[in-house]
Amino acid sequence: MNANFLQTPITYLKGVGPNRAETLQSELGIHTYQDLLNLFPNRYIDKTRYYKISQLQRSNADVQIIGKIIHLKTVEQKKGKRLVATFIDDTGSKMELVWFRGQKWIRENLKLNTPYVIFGKCNWFNGLFSMPHPEMEPLAEHEKGLKIAMQPVYPSTEKLSNRGITNRVISKLIQQLFIETKGQFSETLSDNLLSALKLLPKNEALFNIHFPKNQELLAKAQFRLKFEELFYIQLQLITKKLLRKQRIKGFNFDQVGEQFNTFYEKHLPFDLTNAQKRVIKEIRFDLGSNAQMNRLLQGDVGSGKTIVAVMAMLLAIDNGFQACLMAPTEILANQHYTGIKELLDKIGISCALLTGSVKKSTRKTIHEALESGELDILIGTHALLEDKVKYKNLGLAIIDEQHRFGVAQRAKLWHKNEYPPHILVMTATPIPRTLAMSLYGDLDISIIDELPPGRKPIKTVHRYDSNRLKVFQFIRDEIKKGRQVYVVYPLIQESEALDYKDLMDGYESIARDFPLPNYQISIVHGKMKPADKDYEMERFVKGETQIMVATTVIEVGVNVPNASVMIIESAERFGLSQLHQLRGRVGRGADQSFCILMTSHKLSTEAKTRLETMVRTNDGFEIAEVDLRLRGPGDIMGTQQSGVLNLKIADIVKDNDILQTARHEALKLLKADPSLENPANLVIRHAYAQLVKYKNIWNYIS
Ligand code: ADP
Ligand code: MG
Repeated sequence: MNANFLQTPITYLKGVGPNRAETLQSELGIHTYQDLLNLFPNRYIDKTRYYKISQLQRSNADVQIIGKIIHLKTVEQKKGKRLVATFIDDTGSKMELVWFRGQKWIRENLKLNTPYVIFGKCNWFNGLFSMPHPEMEPLAEHEKGLKIAMQPVYPSTEKLSNRGITNRVISKLIQQLFIETKGQFSETLSDNLLSALKLLPKNEALFNIHFPKNQELLAKAQFRLKFEELFYIQLQLITKKLLRKQRIKGFNFDQVGEQFNTFYEKHLPFDLTNAQKRVIKEIRFDLGSNAQMNRLLQGDVGSGKTIVAVMAMLLAIDNGFQACLMAPTEILANQHYTGIKELLDKIGISCALLTGSVKKSTRKTIHEALESGELDILIGTHALLEDKVKYKNLGLAIIDEQHRFGVAQRAKLWHKNEYPPHILVMTATPIPRTLAMSLYGDLDISIIDELPPGRKPIKTVHRYDSNRLKVFQFIRDEIKKGRQVYVVYPLIQESEALDYKDLMDGYESIARDFPLPNYQISIVHGKMKPADKDYEMERFVKGETQIMVATTVIEVGVNVPNASVMIIESAERFGLSQLHQLRGRVGRGADQSFCILMTSHKLSTEAKTRLETMVRTNDGFEIAEVDLRLRGPGDIMGTQQSGVLNLKIADIVKDNDILQTARHEALKLLKADPSLENPANLVIRHAYAQLVKYKNIWNYIS
């Protein structure tokens, strides 16, 4: 059946009509024959097995039984009438079938002493099994019918079932679709792929996904369709990446000049790790390749991404361009500014800070210096995105902690310039490789997978609130050794008032246990004026205070190497990636660091898994994988807009192996035949064009 036929509006399918069409459209997004064909079952009920009544278990599972009704009676009750049938199988065991609704119809249509196949869930009551509202079919018809071993269960909604579009109806409609199309659909994968991967042909796969003959064929059908889905997504991602490389010209930074070299030779504050060197090389290669760089730099907290950013900015400056660095919070922007300015002053490069709290007059000076080209580097927050901010020639934009920025904001940076600047996105939330591949398949990815030498792994423990006194003693001991301590409280929008109360109560209790003048305590939270925040931060950074009580504003980027203890209060309320980020605030110096996760005794299973994971490992990638498994891709930051949720059959977490295969095959194909001109690949080219044309391929790329 040709693909155009499958674009027929669903209303033309026999059994649909305008009303049902509208419901199918609004509830399941089914507009065309094609959409219905691609409505894949959520699960299957095994109808390969027939139970005897004596074999029934109180298990709540659906069962199928052959037998006869030998007696039918109406039972009157306060709550209303019910119809009860006595059902007997060929061993003579009995059970009851019960109806609360539709009794008249059933009385008139059910035949006594005639073999039926019944299907449904059983209840155990008064020493007897009973099945309410069973699905029933005369055995004779059952034997004639299409042998569907595994019954598909399709996605449903309340509205659908209210309007009588039950699972059975959907199944019937799909049968009708197979009748009208004679079950013939265009193949969408090449012979090469089919034979190399031993895939089911399209027709067989579609048939068996809707009407599986047995478990084995169902598994094969699922594999084929999942592969196909992921393969075309990868094909799209890789094609886009190749196109971008060809078409989107970038400034060519072919000079590795004075600034870069001087800094590298004379002013590096430490030896770079091998991972840092490798990543700088990757960036240098991109910047000198005539194409616009679009690179994601992943590196765990403390892996040293900042120095990589600095080196990249020097490359821009060596080639006569400006650079900017954008951070998600003022604290972080400040810290970047202070750190980077100190480094760059040594080689006379100008650098300014622009945030929401910079004074108007200063801002004006910065705007002017930026437009005239006097200013080389601008560091700041979202303020960098304001329309007033105009560069003379922005060559490189670096975004730190990208998951805090939306797609639109990233795009805004682009439009600041005649040509798009090179983009380097840095993230300390390692995105699981799986997800990175499917979401950011069009970005190049660099990974710093090595921490600077001399770091001791952070020791993490879980303690209940009832052990607080011991924890306080531990803090006292660490402070005696000259260390500093963070105590972090959750702050969640929905419970903001309560959370602030917790924070303040906590602060007071700490202030009582750690009194002046022996102890000095800083407090930082979102309701404070930026100037007060900075002042408190400053005191902690300088070591004037030993304890920093804070909400998660300190989550990102803050760097105080002498702080060696992180206490996280109500740790069960934090997500895994957030816990990992917070823990990353310690372990930055040479001393042994500790992270203490405080919780109440009431913990959900998921919370327990999170805490156990934190205690077990310091590896951000491992943590990200667990996080992904717990929450699914939908909740991982930045994936909401990605469309990754719209997969029709594959599951990005569970089908990781198929994803790898699909990516591998897509790469191999495009390498051998970039424009799919080989006659053997025409089928793929055609299928891909159809997907794009009918927008059946998911809009993955921001
Ligand atoms: P992040 O990747 O979390 O942004 P930073 O760039 O803030 O990490 O670096 C964390 C700390 O490690 C900083 O104090 C930095 O000076 C230090 N650092 C970075 N690279 C090295 C290195 N190669 N050797 C020693 N210390 C380093
Ligand atoms: Mg950082």
